[in-house]
Amino acid sequence: MTQASPLDLSIQSLTATGSSIDLLASSSSDLSQANTMALACLADTVVTLTDEAQLDNFMTAYAEGTAHKIPLFVLSGGSNVLLPAELNAIVLQPKMRGIDIIDQTDDYVDIEVMAGENWHDLVVHTVNQGWYGLENLALIPGLTGAAPVQNIGAYGVQLEDCLQYVRAYHLPTQTWHHLSASDCAFGYRDSIFKRTPNTWLISRVGFRLHTDPNNILASYGDVQTIAQRYADQQGRKLPTPHDVMQAIIDIRQQKLPDPKQLPNCGSFFQNPIIAQEQFMALQAIYPTIVGYPMPDAMTKVAAGWLIEQAGLKGGGVAPIVTHQQQALVLTNHTPYQATQEDVAIAQHYIANTVYEKFAIQLSREPVWINADGSTGSTEHVV
Ligand SMILES: Cc1cc2nc3c(=O)[nH]c(=O)nc-3n(C[C@H](O)[C@H](O)[C@H](O)COP(=O)(O)OP(=O)(O)OC[C@H]3O[C@@H](n4cnc5c(N)ncnc54)[C@H](O)[C@@H]3O)c2cc1C
Repeated sequence: MTQASPLDLSIQSLTATGSSIDLLASSSSDLSQANTMALACLADTVVTLTDEAQLDNFMTAYAEGTAHKIPLFVLSGGSNVLLPAELNAIVLQPKMRGIDIIDQTDDYVDIEVMAGENWHDLVVHTVNQGWYGLENLALIPGLTGAAPVQNIGAYGVQLEDCLQYVRAYHLPTQTWHHLSASDCAFGYRDSIFKRTPNTWLISRVGFRLHTDPNNILASYGDVQTIAQRYADQQGRKLPTPHDVMQAIIDIRQQKLPDPKQLPNCGSFFQNPIIAQEQFMALQAIYPTIVGYPMPDAMTKVAAGWLIEQAGLKGGGVAPIVTHQQQALVLTNHTPYQATQEDVAIAQHYIANTVYEKFAIQLSREPVWINADGSTGSTEHVV
């Protein structure tokens, strides 16, 4: 891993022609602090991009040199990936910054945000400006460029509700594209970018945000109650989007471990969707089972409840165990040492235990990255 890769040769030749791309790439980078699960990971080459022209330059060098045989992998905040111990790919890290106002009326403001902007900071910034719509997505880790990939969602809002377009680079053809929200083909935690991994590099995201402080969505869980408390403290009759954001920050800080304190990648398992018939049969045995009706006679079951009832709250296979307060979250107790393999062992143990008890298969939510930068499938893990 420490030997010169074919990419180094391209970098050297670029240096000779006076390009600054050599300053952007480094060999054999340690990425264990670049993923919130804190898994040990060494990558062959990391290329940091701080503007779009650098990507054009890099891709020209990549395509013309021998490096084009090395796969590319896009990494942002590392909060939704399970990285391998050795990543034999060229890692592209979009770190372009900037927030521009594109259009503004009394009712709305259109902004364009560069991929490298921290997502939570963007949410706080927009709400403080009086631009609303993103407040329910506060405290989701990661960078803005990654947000469209799984159409991030929380507390009744999904990214697609405010997203207008994405500017993205198509890596196979080395061309820039303007993709409308419908081009992105968003679904629940899904998009064209997730379905075709390492094909697109998102560099800008366009949003339309509204300016009506009375237009809030606070119907989830305790959001309304806590937001109202904030409103009362300020002598306001009704909660504002700022109160909603603060309520959601409070709830998330209580409910979810901070990856900086205890490494994790958020919800590890998806909530499984089973036939209503199976759900009712389980309900007869376990009256407290948590489920939400879905179309086509299906029911979405709370994976956290299943894991907890299988006796695995705080359990797993050390050093990867479920969180004491939130069984859906897997935590890493030996940061920068535990590997993807340790996660696989714990994942299989938990999923098998749940399957034996409930005959329900659990699927993983974070993206499994193979040694060549390709992504693992979201196959059932039992
Ligand atoms: C504590 C915690 C809580 C979370 N809560 C939520 C939640 O409530 N809702 C939710 O939806 N998610 C949640 N997540 C998951 C995660 O934060 C989001 O998916 C986030 O958008 C990932 O951003 P990132 O920058 O870390 O992406 P990364 O993990 O770096 O990348 C994720 C995927 O996107 C691809 N990618 C990244 N950037 C780009 C780009 N610019 N262009 C193209 N592809 C790209 C990567 O190749 C990878 O496949 C949570 C995670 C944690 C750790």
